[in-house]
Amino acid sequence: MPEVADLLRDNLARVETQIAAACDKVGRARQEVTLVAVTKSVSPQVAGLLPGLGVHHLGESRPQELWRKAAALPRSIHWHQVGHLQTNKIERTLPLCQLIHSVDTVHLIQALEKEAARQQHTVDVLLEVNASREENKHGFAPEQLESVLPQLTSLQHVRVRGLMTMAAYDDDPEHCRPTFALLRTLLDRLAQQVPPPHRMEDLSMGMSNDFAVAIEEGATLIRLGTILFEGVVPEAS
Ligand SMILES: *Cc1c(COP(=O)(O)O)cnc(C)c1O
Repeated sequence: MPEVADLLRDNLARVETQIAAACDKVGRARQEVTLVAVTKSVSPQVAGLLPGLGVHHLGESRPQELWRKAAALPRSIHWHQVGHLQTNKIERTLPLCQLIHSVDTVHLIQALEKEAARQQHTVDVLLEVNASREENKHGFAPEQLESVLPQLTSLQHVRVRGLMTMAAYDDDPEHCRPTFALLRTLLDRLAQQVPPPHRMEDLSMGMSNDFAVAIEEGATLIRLGTILFEGVVPEAS
């Protein structure tokens, strides 16, 4: 699909310019920010063009779709589970995943620990925070996070690496800034208290609409779908 590859290359170049500008604005290095391409709206064939364009981190919101694409695409891809993970999907998701962004209950942490121990596998996770306090969103409430920390001391196969959030959609991304700033403050506070080998360093925040602001507020992982696949016809399935 040469035309699709050209389209993706153009979209990516535009996004890279915006990422670089946001980094510049606040004196961050481009390498501090990892672009995770969220491929839920495109086919495995289209997703499979990304590594050739320099994008090696791919994300899916539904585990079944992650399984499907991971099976179809090269093993060198680093997969990120960015959407809600049910406990009955852990077994198949664990061996495929580089990072689970969406750990939203203590129950899920414990189920992950149990299955990771069984598979003799270590898994890196982020705690999802419902920083915008929307009722329809998953995630820990900000004030719940500290009570989660003691639960982490007994884990041997799950390593918490940081926090993830989704800002409430707003036409003006400036309105998302307080959500991202809050996540940054929470991370800094928890970093002092988190027991090793956990470490609070990563902030997964920023989507197509608001990633520039998220980078300015300290995002280390941005999750982009729409803006990368603009013009690419969605999968018919
Ligand atoms: C779909 C999705 C994204 C990408 O969103 P866009 O607005 O399309 O860039 C990021 N994070 C999660 C959790 C998603 O489900």
